[in-house]
Formats: sequence, structure tokens, C-alpha cells
Amino acid sequence: VAALYIVPTPIGNFADLSSHAIEVLNRVSLIACEDTRHSGRLLSHYGIETRKTALHDHNERDRAQWVVQQLAAGDSIALISDAGTPLISDPGYHLVKHVREAGHKVIPLPGPCAAITALSASGLPSDRFSFEGFLPAKEKGRVDKLQALQQDPRTLIFYESPHRILASLESIVKVFGEDRQMVMAREVTKTFETFLSGTAAEVLAMVQADENQQKGEIVIMCHGFVQLEEETTPAAAIDTLTLLAAELP
Ligand code: SAM
Repeated sequence: VAALYIVPTPIGNFADLSSHAIEVLNRVSLIACEDTRHSGRLLSHYGIETRKTALHDHNERDRAQWVVQQLAAGDSIALISDAGTPLISDPGYHLVKHVREAGHKVIPLPGPCAAITALSASGLPSDRFSFEGFLPAKEKGRVDKLQALQQDPRTLIFYESPHRILASLESIVKVFGEDRQMVMAREVTKTFETFLSGTAAEVLAMVQADENQQKGEIVIMCHGFVQLEEETTPAAAIDTLTLLAAELP
């Protein structure tokens, strides 16, 4: 039966396209790409000649109906985005919802995702985390969003663009405080892959001091909120100390 395949593509290193992904991209009738020219480079690298069509944020809702017609006619389709996993800060949500509601199969392939790849090597707690996508572009929206997350105990993951990295780091220092542990992962899987870790103030200082750290693709990860130990000594401990003190010479 025809299906819509969700196919992750590399986030920098072409070698990260799986053999299963290559097989599916060759087999389907059509590849829906966020940007056909951009994906053309990857597809031609692998000699994949399947027909391509554009599916991006601006036409996704209109295209969904058309995709359902193709599936009904028996044609399988693969969805890819410019990089990484479709739907993760990328188009595809409306399409998948529509295709499922129309009763067709949606089959996901596992593969690259910048958030998960960066988290796996960050050294930050990975047992619980929250993916927050891109922070708002405007200062007020950004600060409001960070304030809502300030007490969240989970590791927080954000995507960021190079021209907003300084502003976002400044907002993080302002709202989470200078001492919050964090990691900035840049150009993951590419030649200039860098992980900067330290307190928020330290990471901001490193990025301010080196313009190269303000370039490329960036994932910001913040340690979750840590409740400080109660500063007052509990009553039971004071009783014990008083007894012990009485015994001392
Ligand atoms: N769908 C993609 C995924 O699964 O990761 C994310 C697409 S989103 C439009 C692009 C953002 O992902 C970039 O601005 C950056 O924050 C992050 N990103 C993508 N590739 C990256 C890489 N190689 N290193 C670090 N961050 C990356």
C-alpha cells in the first residue's frame, strides 16, 4: 500500500544518510522537499533521480490535499526537509495530521536530529529534557519565554541562528542567572564542530570574544533548574547538635 514516509537527512555530513533512507528515496514516486534545489545536492550525491516537489511552510496546507490524492492513487511519497528530521522545527506537521486523518499510512524512518545529536555529547543530564525550538526573535518575547522555563528542572534545548546567538545568550544570563550551567553546540557533524560548556556567563564571554563562535548552526542547551539546599538547619539536627555539644568537655 502507498504510504507517506518521513525521512530524516544529514545535518552536515552526507555520510549520515542511512541505507534505508536511500532505499526509500529511490523507491517512492515523489519526494516532497522543503527546498528542491537544496535537497537536490544530497539526492544527486546519491544518484537518486526520483521526482521532487516543493512542500514548505507557505504551501503545506494546500499541498496536503494533493498528497492525499497521490496516496489514494497508489503513489508513495517521502517527505524530507533541508536537514535533519522533518517536523522538528521544520514543515510537515499539517501534512502528517491530514494524511493520517484521511486514513493513509505514515511511516517514519529514524535518523539525524540536531537537538538529539547535540544533547548526546553535551554532558548535560539527558534523562529528562525539553525541546523548545527557536526562542522568539524579539527581546520581550524571548525573556517571557525564558521566565516561563526558569524553574523547569529538565535540560532545555533551543535552536538558534548565528545572527541572534549573542542576544539569546544575553537573555539566558539575564533570566537564568550567570551561574546556570550550559553547553553551546555549533556545526555538529561538520568540520568546525565545537562544544562550549561552562556557566551561562562563561559561555557568553567565550562567544563575545571570538566571532567564529557566532557563525554556523547552533544548539543551545541549559541545565535544568536546581533547587538549592535549605539553608536553615532542620530542627532535628539542631537537637542532635545540642545533645552532642553537652557531652563535649
Ligand atoms: N529539522 C532539523 C533537525 O532535525 O535538527 C532542524 C531544522 S531547524 C530549521 C535548523 C536549526 O537546527 C539550526 O538553526 C540549528 O539551530 C539546528 N541545527 C541544524 N543542523 C545543525 C548542526 N549541524 N549543528 C548545530 N545545530 C544545527
